[in-house]
Amino acid sequence: MDFLPEPYKTKTVERIHLLPREKRQRKLIEAHYNLFKIPAADVFIDLLTDSGTSAMSDNQWAGLQMGDESYAGCRNYYFFEDTIRNITGFKNIIPAHQGRVAENLLFTSALKKGDYVISNTHFDTTRANIEHQKAHAVDLLVEEGKDPQSEYDFKGNIDLDKVEDFIKKVGAKKIPMGMLTVTNNAGGGQPVSLENIKAYSELLHKHGISLYLDACRYAENCYFIKQREAAYRDWTIKDIAREMFKYTDGCTMSAKKDGLANIGGFLATNDDKLAAKITNMLILIEGFPTYGGMAGRDLEAVARGLIEALDEEYLHYRVQQVKCLGELLEEAEIPIVRPPGGHAIYVDINSFLPDFPREKYPGWAVTVAMYREGCVRTTEIGTIMQGLQPDGTEIIPRLELVRLAIPRRVYSMAHLQYVASIFKKIKENKKLIKPLRIKWQAPVMRHFTVELEEIP
Ligand SMILES: *Cc1c(COP(=O)(O)O)cnc(C)c1O
Repeated sequence: MDFLPEPYKTKTVERIHLLPREKRQRKLIEAHYNLFKIPAADVFIDLLTDSGTSAMSDNQWAGLQMGDESYAGCRNYYFFEDTIRNITGFKNIIPAHQGRVAENLLFTSALKKGDYVISNTHFDTTRANIEHQKAHAVDLLVEEGKDPQSEYDFKGNIDLDKVEDFIKKVGAKKIPMGMLTVTNNAGGGQPVSLENIKAYSELLHKHGISLYLDACRYAENCYFIKQREAAYRDWTIKDIAREMFKYTDGCTMSAKKDGLANIGGFLATNDDKLAAKITNMLILIEGFPTYGGMAGRDLEAVARGLIEALDEEYLHYRVQQVKCLGELLEEAEIPIVRPPGGHAIYVDINSFLPDFPREKYPGWAVTVAMYREGCVRTTEIGTIMQGLQPDGTEIIPRLELVRLAIPRRVYSMAHLQYVASIFKKIKENKKLIKPLRIKWQAPVMRHFTVELEEIP
């Protein structure tokens, strides 16, 4: 298997529109230069996120027709439970309508004020849910994972020396659990090795600390393990997944990623006592334990999607497509975070625009230019998203990135070639990228609603 074209063909199409440039400029002004405020119908290629944006298969759509909408014990739940138990081996499977609810249920049930949860890198909803319990979310990523040019195979690994030191420093009693995000979303979609998972698990368990995976992109992580970790070269993806989950006590999962579904998620644990506590909470905030905030048909679509996402040809194609976009950008001498991760390409804006003043938001300015020049939507992960401090001051983060997240099974290589050509256009005429200033902002999570203007 080397280059593999899309291992699917088109059966239903959705029309997308390339608005003329004048209209795009008008939309930008109406949206106060914030792409979150542009209606999706006015975007030609939407690389805002890979979450919940997957194209479902004919098999999943057929599954929707098989929804059993009984309040209690619908058949789709049993299939959902069996499927997840078969992949993960976990005892208790608790449905939730998306990943952050699974996190909320886990942390409200397992954490006390002042506790610590360590991870390679906590995703922002995970961090927020831990902090909501007045506990601390601590990131202990390997140093290679922080260097955008390091070619290390497993830049998502957790630093075991730092873990050991941290346990010594605060004491195991203050750390009810460790986590690992696979692949590491906030760290560029970089994978974690099975060797690292195993050693981390041994270390935590030696101290009586449990281990949970943030498993949103576990299938993509398993594919990288198969490619890069010699011991698993001949294993199936499913066996690698089973092996990975074996060393852990449970997981949280957003089925909007490797569940290939538009909504859904779950929490799984081997701890019966904890499961009972979580189930009580589930009934309070999500619903009865056999639907957990989802319709029967959605449970069916998620279960079928989870099975499809373990298909090695699909994963090969998926990772290859992301890598191809990275190669197209690099051919045009656009600097990206190396090596490409599983779900997105990140452009390194500090190298791309070395002379653009950081306080005039170069990453955000690139996303505006990509829309104006090509009707393409991307996201800034830089000063606007991360710079605002609780006291209202702004600290410019070390990295300024623009993320091009690739929805699963949605766009063809031709779409991505088009995206790369627009990037090339703004690279060749950097005057198209205009400095910005903020007109209005919210005190937290400002990127969703911020209003800006271009500085003439
Ligand atoms: C998306 C995501 C979540 C949260 O899932 P939602 O379904 O969006 O609530 C948690 N962790 C990671 C790593 C994610 O990518």
